[in-house]
Amino acid sequence: MTSCLLLWAILGAANEQIIDRFDYADSDTAAKAWVASAGTPRVRVVEDQGRRVVEMATPFASNPNLERTILDRAVQLDLSAPGEFSLEIGSPTAEKLGRLSLYFRSGEGWFAGGGELSKKGWQTLRFSKASFRPEGKPAGWHKIDGIRLSIWRGPSADAVVRLGGLAALWHDVALVLPSPSSLSDRQELRAALSAADAVGDFLAQLGLGSDAVDEHAAAQGALARRRVAILAHNPGVGRETIGALEAFVQGGGKVFVCYSLAPELGKLLGFGRPKYVRPSPPDQFAEIRFEASDLPGLPKAVRQSSWNITTAEPVGHHARVIGRWFDPQGRPTGHAAMLLSDRGAFFSHIVLSDDPEGKRQMLAAVLGRLWPPLWEQMARTKLDALGRMGHLEGPADLARYVNRSSDSAAAKALEAGTAAYRAAAKLAEAKQFPEAIQQAQEARRLLVEAYLRATPSRGEEGRAFWEHSGQGAYPGDWERTARELAAAGFNMVIPNMLWGGLAHYESEVLPQSRVVRSHGDQIAQCAAACKKHGLEAHIWKVNWNLSTAPREFVEKLRKQGRTQVSARGEPHDWLCPSHPENFQLELDSMLEVARRYDVAGLHFDYIRYPDGDHCYCEGCRRRFESESGRKVARWPDDCYRGERSREYRDWRCKQITRLVEAVHRQAKKIKPQIKLSAAVFGAYPSCRESVGQDWPEWIKAGYLDFVCPMDYTESDLGFISLVSSQLELVGGRIPIYPGIGATASRSALSVDRVVGQIHHARSLGANGFTIFNLDRGTIQDIAPGVGLGAGSRPAMPPHRK
Ligand SMILES: [Zn+2]
Repeated sequence: MTSCLLLWAILGAANEQIIDRFDYADSDTAAKAWVASAGTPRVRVVEDQGRRVVEMATPFASNPNLERTILDRAVQLDLSAPGEFSLEIGSPTAEKLGRLSLYFRSGEGWFAGGGELSKKGWQTLRFSKASFRPEGKPAGWHKIDGIRLSIWRGPSADAVVRLGGLAALWHDVALVLPSPSSLSDRQELRAALSAADAVGDFLAQLGLGSDAVDEHAAAQGALARRRVAILAHNPGVGRETIGALEAFVQGGGKVFVCYSLAPELGKLLGFGRPKYVRPSPPDQFAEIRFEASDLPGLPKAVRQSSWNITTAEPVGHHARVIGRWFDPQGRPTGHAAMLLSDRGAFFSHIVLSDDPEGKRQMLAAVLGRLWPPLWEQMARTKLDALGRMGHLEGPADLARYVNRSSDSAAAKALEAGTAAYRAAAKLAEAKQFPEAIQQAQEARRLLVEAYLRATPSRGEEGRAFWEHSGQGAYPGDWERTARELAAAGFNMVIPNMLWGGLAHYESEVLPQSRVVRSHGDQIAQCAAACKKHGLEAHIWKVNWNLSTAPREFVEKLRKQGRTQVSARGEPHDWLCPSHPENFQLELDSMLEVARRYDVAGLHFDYIRYPDGDHCYCEGCRRRFESESGRKVARWPDDCYRGERSREYRDWRCKQITRLVEAVHRQAKKIKPQIKLSAAVFGAYPSCRESVGQDWPEWIKAGYLDFVCPMDYTESDLGFISLVSSQLELVGGRIPIYPGIGATASRSALSVDRVVGQIHHARSLGANGFTIFNLDRGTIQDIAPGVGLGAGSRPAMPPHRK
């Protein structure tokens, strides 16, 4: 357990309960404890670095039907108190593995969590309890009677996984999660859990870790071991939970509440008169500026684009406002953003993942104020992580990388960064932790700069950004967006200008958006700006999806039987792809763009079904029966899971593919030079089965000129594994510009991590990259960093040849 011991030395404050050491006397004993099923080979005990560990084989190549391996162990455990689990795991061929799932069985259900190996060799994976989702009807964390470990199919390869320890952990900080009983609205519950997840991620990055405790458990005393309780978003917090928090506060605990502030809870902490505020104009809340010089480490400002807030006022326990909201022009809005008292803090919205560095600093300063010993943990983690950046493992790697580049500006930044690092270590030794963290941040900034500058540029490469709003990074100013992108070495932008039922340009086919009225025709402005700055504009359509369409438009289509219906008969606001008029609408809208605008290309997205349960509308039934020449005996069961399901899945793929084919054929007739491309799911062939997206077939048939798989992951190893398998599928037929999730819903990457994934994409043989998503934040945080090295020389996108 050497690596675990090391970890505890760093994290000091964690308590630990070992669940399994995987130290079994022999293979028979291990195989009796961890029972293999569903085609999984028996486990065996092996020697690894002088100790016994358990090895599980993952024979995905030898057994092509194996979807995942399964190991089960029976236990009797009360896991209501721990907030996190750690699994020590290793594999010499980690890139050949899919995702890992960890399940705890309870009553008639499970708690399901997951993760990915991030590198080859031994590593410790952490699973926050907040990230576990109930499946079926679990009785509760206090009654766990089984543990299951699963490795899912990745690339088709045989590999092994070694297990060295599974433990439950406690931390000083608890994340109090809403329980299903306090928040019955499933969607609201999911939103609340994901808000807690985001805070949990930030805490992990700060080196703090946290315990997820649900409101029900908190009410029964589960907060007892903690120092700080965080309510990341608990709209239905009950009387009993507030009672528990009151006892917690009276025992010296501190409470940090975000967004929803129940009046009694506010009163307990010194924050009163909570008031819900909708911004006017809608982008009014852009930035929080702080004013509390007595809080060490507090940033001057953080960016956050909130769509609404709850404000409050100081009413007791020395409460005061320490941060206020400002608008995009830097004007005060008059609304409080953050309050602090002797008993806790209040933040006026959920903590969003934009401006991650700022958010980390903000949380560090507030939590460090609430419970000062947290500072030491954070300082140690920060110093420890300084040399790890991009695709590099440590300081020695960085020095070699910079030297090899022979870039003098990179060498200078490395020298200054190393000096700053030494100063930070000295401050930590003197126990001046907030100062040490600040100094470490400066060191980090310099070392990242060295890394970015040392990254080489290429002469031929597709360098793109997806842009989700259709308005560029600065609404009303495509000129500035194009200029800044070109300055950072980008040669393409992919702006989202049309949807299933909405257009950000003067369309004669689709309803026009409010943006057209307020800012004019966005394609015209974008195309002109791109032309001026030498950028290609590839116009992105979100196909089929009606979520942004005007209500009356959707209702009209639904009445006409043109929207989708699930296998259970529920309506869904997506255009049914098999409906001839929907097909025509999709085609006409894309051809309208090709005909009327001087753009480089058309880009498909959502070119698929929403999931595996659609579409089973009456129209689909009729059209399927007529095309297959055979009635469906039991609709939709036969086509959904029954004897004709395979045939129906193929037919669904055809409905999607025929649109790609038609746009390809007709757009090229209108404009022979126009390029067609698509944002596609990373994992194939599962996307063919689930959402009817058979993109490798489109490439083989010659419908696409380049492809951008959405490889959004924070794991470089996961990224490498996706890109490798996609390169194999594409087989060199067209360029591939893998999608990098800088600010995707499941992945947030700092600029060095984005450049690290660019490095991996290049090393594997990809022809460029596409970053998600361009906005005011990423054009300032990500684009210039790419421009320092990776994009420092102009490049030609290879699809132009
Ligand atoms: Zn249908």
